[in-house]
Amino acid sequence: MWLQMIILWLVLRVQISIEARCFAVARTYSIGRSMEGRELLVVEFSDNPGKHDLLEPETKFVGNVHGNEVLSRQLLIHLAQFLCTEYLRGNQRIQTLINTTRIHILPSVNPDRYEVIGSFNLGTNNAQNIDLNRNFPDLTSIVYRRHRQKGHRTDHIPIPDSYWFGKVAPETYAVMEWIRSVPFVLSASFCSGDLLVSYPYDLSKHPQGNDTFSPTPDQKVFKFLAGTYANAHQKYKL
Ligand SMILES: [Zn+2]
Repeated sequence: MWLQMIILWLVLRVQISIEARCFAVARTYSIGRSMEGRELLVVEFSDNPGKHDLLEPETKFVGNVHGNEVLSRQLLIHLAQFLCTEYLRGNQRIQTLINTTRIHILPSVNPDRYEVIGSFNLGTNNAQNIDLNRNFPDLTSIVYRRHRQKGHRTDHIPIPDSYWFGKVAPETYAVMEWIRSVPFVLSASFCSGDLLVSYPYDLSKHPQGNDTFSPTPDQKVFKFLAGTYANAHQKYKL
């Protein structure tokens, strides 16, 4: 119990100290609470924290979707510290990035399960035993259905009402609201434990054919982005 409180205190302290050290370009805010009431805290970097600047791309990074995958959470906390420190040191690349985009970092979307992994190995799901990684609205099936009924748009599909009314975990709901309130153009969610980049469509057109090629209209962009990420890793090149 004490250990968990100390860990939580440390995480809060890191996020608050980033905001204090980089107050001109960083802000900490909450997108809601987990099943057990823990704040889902985001650190944001921008030359105008708290405000969407016209034409400035909004990006987000999410970690710890699976509670026991702690590396993703640590990496994102380090990324936030790195952005703050390098900005203050006058690193041109980081200053340009922060001045021309808005970067939102949510190190843990599953803090409840993270809190207990030290005492029991309870696995990946949230406090209700929901796998958050599989809990988001399935828009891919809607796209495939629309493909079959030719003439329907397959972009700008709103989240169906059924997902807004009690069907999802509170953590998922908070992220859905977050996505609706900020016009994100680029996002990544980090797991840990494998060398893999997965990008849309993550679902195959045929339920049984997991290895069926399922490109989106933006396949080239996704592949480029996945390559940029993977090729920066020493052992993992596309
Ligand atoms: Zn995972």
